Amino acid sequence: MSQRMIDQFMEMVRIDSESGEEARMMEYLLGAVASAGGSAELDAYGNLLGRFPALGCTGVAPVLLSCHGDTVKPGKGIRPVLSGGVIRSSGDTILGADDKAGIAEVLEAMRVSTVRPPIELAVSRQEEVGLHGVKNLDFSKISAKRGFLMDNDTLETIVIGGPSYFAIDVEITGKSAHAGMEPEKGINAIYAASRAIAALRLGRLDGETTANVGIIEGGIIRNGVPAKCAFKAECRSSDHAKAEALSVEMDGIIRREVEAAGAKVTIAIDNMCRAVRIPEASWTVDVAKSALKTVGVEARCVFITGFTDASIYNNKGIEMAVIGIGAQNEHSTEECIAVADMEKAVVALVEMLRIAAQ
Ligand SMILES: [Zn+2]
Repeated sequence: MSQRMIDQFMEMVRIDSESGEEARMMEYLLGAVASAGGSAELDAYGNLLGRFPALGCTGVAPVLLSCHGDTVKPGKGIRPVLSGGVIRSSGDTILGADDKAGIAEVLEAMRVSTVRPPIELAVSRQEEVGLHGVKNLDFSKISAKRGFLMDNDTLETIVIGGPSYFAIDVEITGKSAHAGMEPEKGINAIYAASRAIAALRLGRLDGETTANVGIIEGGIIRNGVPAKCAFKAECRSSDHAKAEALSVEMDGIIRREVEAAGAKVTIAIDNMCRAVRIPEASWTVDVAKSALKTVGVEARCVFITGFTDASIYNNKGIEMAVIGIGAQNEHSTEECIAVADMEKAVVALVEMLRIAAQ
């Protein structure tokens, strides 16, 4: 099985698909799903939705398998190299194992499994830039109530949850004036932004809550009082109420400080993700743990402070655990994956589906 899977994985990473530019990858997958015995279509947003028939069982509830088809940068012109049982990029790009190894493993599992429930497959676009694909996924085409997201790096952990996330976009408007001739006629938007940022509580605020200002831009000339300044902040917490309260606090502080500086402000707050935590005793975690044991992996549950498509599926009432694909050093040019770990992931996934068919 490994040569076929490796060839397909290498073929997929050679297809450029940085976030927003997944069309060619999705086109490829339409054919790949059909060759693996399924059928697939794209939804209006360009996500791929596929189906594979049940095997060796009848009347069993469908299971959703999901991956994402986009990659981070630098992800163009990837030249994968297999050496010593490990696949790496040529050093100038990422490898794209995140998440194409997951896709290759799912397709291989579809080819080799002999007992499985009906499978629904979703491959999302634009996961890496804010889960846009899954947020726009055509959920009317999905009937599964539980499943597995093949998008964790190590096989040793199962991701059972992620935080609430608020994106805060701030635009400040002051008044321009000549900095030397008549500064008193101006209202300095950069000064107003600085006051606001200096007054915010940032960094790690408690064991489960953080806040940050990550981007600031403003002004056009050195000798002008700047009329415009904008910054982008965020806050997150595994406790939704805390994250929400913090976003309200940040909003209040920014308004107070900007107004004290005489400027005007517009603030857009987007609750991009709501905290989820599936129980360690849930069906999906149970099935995944038992299956991983058969390949010698004692997986433990983890709650992460980042995001996966599973947050959105769980928000929508589909119980999803995030399972490892065997990749290492994701989001870097050192990204790599051992063939042996890909094989283990396939054996474990096939076993998960066998258990799910019971
Ligand atoms: Zn990923």
